[in-house]
Amino acid sequence: MRGSLSGGKAMDRRIVLGAAVLAGADASLRLDCGVLIEGARIVAVGPNAQLTAHAGDAEILDARDLILCPGWVNAHHHAYGLLAHGIPIAGDAPRGFDRFLSDLWWPRVEDRLDGSMIEAAMAVSCADMIRSGFTAFCDVLEAPLAGTGVLDLEARAVERAGLRAALCLEASERHGAEVGRQALWENERFARERGRDGLVRGMQCLHTSFTCSEGFVRAAKESAARAGCDLHLHLSESAYEPKECLRRHGVRPVHWYDQLGFWDETVLASQVVAVTDDEIARLAERRVRIAHMPLSNCEVGGGIAPIPQMIERGLEPGLGTDGYINDPFEVMRGAFLLHKGAARDASVMPARTVLGMATAWGARAIGFPEAGALAPGHPADLIGIDDAPGTPLTADNVADQLVLFRGRGDVKLTIVAGRVLFRNGVVETMDEGAVRAAARLEVARLWAGRGRGG
Ligand SMILES: [Zn+2]
Repeated sequence: MRGSLSGGKAMDRRIVLGAAVLAGADASLRLDCGVLIEGARIVAVGPNAQLTAHAGDAEILDARDLILCPGWVNAHHHAYGLLAHGIPIAGDAPRGFDRFLSDLWWPRVEDRLDGSMIEAAMAVSCADMIRSGFTAFCDVLEAPLAGTGVLDLEARAVERAGLRAALCLEASERHGAEVGRQALWENERFARERGRDGLVRGMQCLHTSFTCSEGFVRAAKESAARAGCDLHLHLSESAYEPKECLRRHGVRPVHWYDQLGFWDETVLASQVVAVTDDEIARLAERRVRIAHMPLSNCEVGGGIAPIPQMIERGLEPGLGTDGYINDPFEVMRGAFLLHKGAARDASVMPARTVLGMATAWGARAIGFPEAGALAPGHPADLIGIDDAPGTPLTADNVADQLVLFRGRGDVKLTIVAGRVLFRNGVVETMDEGAVRAAARLEVARLWAGRGRGG
């Protein structure tokens, strides 16, 4: 950004002057335009000169070297995952997705997490997301033994940071029905208490068809209906789940859940890699929301999700990091490139589509349909990205410019609900050094075996 604030009083009115505004993936590029914000919402998008002429007592933020666009939405995240980045284990990692979970991830990570590890990881993750231009996310905490109140600890960290989020605790019967039901109850309580108006909301959440029985899935569905909240699950992340589901129930996962009356537009299914055309058709028919994780699907050897086929059927997948490589630009490039390679067709997944997945589609997927676009009446969740090098910015190349030729270091401004979270290289809502130091201590505790069960 060129300058600092000028004029400033009236904290509830702010003008952000931009080099250009891209209001959404389908919008046209508007050069020399900016955004007028009142409180938490956008009230106008228009030429900088016009906004300045009617500024009155509004605070003016001069970002005329930045492209303003909707913030990125991380449609599926595990903040706790950063405690296990580059897992410090001796010897070879277990082979296969199921062995990876049962021999390593569950006993060494998920089952050892406690409240202070979880809160510290969330705080650092929020700092990283703010710097990367994420303005909203859906987080799935996988910590079955961490006890009650952990979502409140996460919410505290997210609220301090200032991001928009849907939070949930993954429930399964992996540690027995009682532990699973407690997690369902925890989600229900949290979702009820949070309601549907705040920046941080709750969601019901179950794991998979191989860790949840029919009765448990029904209970999760009923609980979500009681709380009036959305419902998340991991679906067919690799060939393992369909194989297990066929063995146990004689049908593939999408059809098994369908028999239980599970699917509708309140359900967010993440991963969705090992699915057939028939399953995609059913998901589309039921208007299920999808979160796509191009990078982590490769990490676990799960395969490449048939995202172009889903889009063709009318599904609108968001994009997520899965707590793995938490960089929106790398994830967008993964989505842009992988499907072209898999289909041997350079026309699939154009940059505009990827941009939509990372913004409006992602916002709808995680239950904030009002976010993801810069327009009057919408939440003021926006980012500013360096307009500097490269070919001249045009309506035709702006999506490519943002998705392919910028990186997280080019994000210079992050605003959520009208509040500036990041500018001039500083995350303004937290003491970032202290937050990172606290997380380093928690990582050390986890790997010294001093968490739960340690
Ligand atoms: Zn996940």
